[in-house]
Amino acid sequence: MSEPLLNELSQVGRQGVRYPAPDVPLADLPDGLTRHDLPLPEVSEIDVVRHFTRLSQLNHSIDTGFYPLGSCTMKYNPKINEETARLPGFLWVHPLQPVETVQGSLALMYHLQESIKEIGGFAAVTLQPAAGAHGELTGVLIMRAYHAANGHTERKKILIPDSAHGTNPASSAMAGLQVVQLPSDARGNIDLAALEAECDDTLLGLMLTNPNTLGLFDEHLEDIVRLVHDAGGLMYGDGANMNALLGIARPGDLGIDVMHFNLHKTFSTPHGGGGPGSGPVAVSAALADFLPAPIVDIIEPGDEELPPLYGFVTPKHSIGRVKAFHGHFGIFVRAYTYILMHGAEGLRQVAENAVLNANYLMAKLKGTYPVPYERPCMHEFVAEGQVEGAPDVRALDIAKRLLDYGIHPPTNYFPLIVHEALMIEPTETESKQMLDGFVVALEQIAAEARTNPEVLHTAPHNTPVGRLDEVKAAKELILTWE
Ligand SMILES: *Cc1c(COP(=O)(O)O)cnc(C)c1O
Repeated sequence: MSEPLLNELSQVGRQGVRYPAPDVPLADLPDGLTRHDLPLPEVSEIDVVRHFTRLSQLNHSIDTGFYPLGSCTMKYNPKINEETARLPGFLWVHPLQPVETVQGSLALMYHLQESIKEIGGFAAVTLQPAAGAHGELTGVLIMRAYHAANGHTERKKILIPDSAHGTNPASSAMAGLQVVQLPSDARGNIDLAALEAECDDTLLGLMLTNPNTLGLFDEHLEDIVRLVHDAGGLMYGDGANMNALLGIARPGDLGIDVMHFNLHKTFSTPHGGGGPGSGPVAVSAALADFLPAPIVDIIEPGDEELPPLYGFVTPKHSIGRVKAFHGHFGIFVRAYTYILMHGAEGLRQVAENAVLNANYLMAKLKGTYPVPYERPCMHEFVAEGQVEGAPDVRALDIAKRLLDYGIHPPTNYFPLIVHEALMIEPTETESKQMLDGFVVALEQIAAEARTNPEVLHTAPHNTPVGRLDEVKAAKELILTWE
């Protein structure tokens, strides 16, 4: 009998643990310390295991199926990352331990900082930010502090293309900046004339996602960087998704001054469901003094006998702390493992395969689902969720129907500049068989859309829950089991 058929697992007196005989004299707890009216479940160990294992299978996950969620980079999380993150020396450290007792952990953080500098072409890095959006806020605060230190408090305007991730304008607004949206041109690049018109002496900088959320590399990157720098502004790079660039191009070399990385996307650490992310921020030499404190550095160089001594330092004009303690350490271990496992050659191959897989899918699908900005894509591409001959079938219907095929839907209705957007990112970790299976599923869905649209409108049919009222679910959170 499966668990849902049981009304209530809890049975009075049932126990999941047996306590050993006490080796100290028994004593009653003082009055007021215990409550007897809490309705805690009384269950056995196997009840608990089945309950949570069943819950874990109600959702789609990267370990159970293909997850082509554009912009989110749902690549496979190698299990060796989990092994290293669970090494006792990493697992049991406490952030308040004296630095002499956590030298291994500091060494790992230092070398992760060095790797990020090398991969991105930057001079300095902070590992503190908790996720991408937090990295953006940190980055724009650094840009603001840099201009203020040069006497330019009037520089408050930040330019953000209309294809940008919604966190870009949100982070900028949180930092007290004035957000100006830039339109895209017909090829999906930033409209250069619009950019030029905004380049004045109130310009703080521009936030660029490149490749952008259409999966396209901006063909005028050099012009954009020149226009912004000539106007005294700084270039912010949204590096949440570095999957197309790893080992091929370094944003620092291309003129980006500040960039956040999402370890939970590009560097294969698990995410989703609001789990821990990590959004390190890297900067050019001119901005290094403004990074949040503390940063891990070598305090005393080592020699042939002794390893170097690592410790924390505070940059000269630091904007201060952006997070308690030192960031999400367990994620650092996973990301560093991934970087070391691949090495420089392997990381380049990651990018090559991610781009190849996305272009393969685009070529196979564009006859069925229109691709509005059609030129070679980077690690993802955006199609329209519209099928010829099925005018009332929408991207949402296609996305929901994919669930019946055991496939997580692509990101949909983003970016906003594509009608009925389906944003597809296969990642480098999927095989050709898997990609071909996805194409077959989408082609079958297109055929269903023409012959039996109702099956799409009412999808999904095979999942634990069907279509949800997402607005109501977000506004009326019910977080307890009644
Ligand atoms: C995911 C993403 C972000 C935000 O990262 P979070 O870790 O979710 O806060 C920002 N920009 C782009 C392009 C992204 O894909």
